[in-house]
Amino acid sequence: MLDSLKDVIRKSSIHVCLVSTGGCNGCDIEVVALLSPRYDLEQYGIYVHNNPREADVILIAGAVTEQWREKLQRIYAKAPEPKVVVAVGNCPLSGDVFNQEGGSVYAPASDFIPVDAEISGCPPRPSEILAAILAVGPDAIATKGRQAKGGHTVEEKAEGGEKV
Ligand code: SF4
Repeated sequence: MLDSLKDVIRKSSIHVCLVSTGGCNGCDIEVVALLSPRYDLEQYGIYVHNNPREADVILIAGAVTEQWREKLQRIYAKAPEPKVVVAVGNCPLSGDVFNQEGGSVYAPASDFIPVDAEISGCPPRPSEILAAILAVGPDAIATKGRQAKGGHTVEEKAEGGEKV
């Protein structure tokens, strides 16, 4: 019963799992801004949570620290196929300000798990993060036999929207 209810809800939505590996949380704040009325992420049927088992898209924010290397791989392993990953901000790309000599920051994150899209910036704008999710999310759910809300693709909805 619960599983079939979940299937109905998931049929037209894109589930995004946010993984914060270790940064200043500036990128997390930009992701949270997507939930505000200004961007209203859920109008696209996109939901952000931290459950990799439900993830269509994994967002990585922050630098990969010593403690996060293996954890990141374990989280990636839990995500269902196709595993789609977006690296948000400079930290997962280069370690940014945290990548200092003698430190324990590892970069890029793609050394540990495959990354499908990268958004540079410190932090990137919410609209850039949304654009990246929209670039990879619809294909990710289409591979699973699902379509974006209302019979339209999420990209079509974004084209019609004014808030992005
Ligand atoms: S990229 Fe910049 S804003 Fe984002 S977590 Fe790293 S230091 Fe903070």
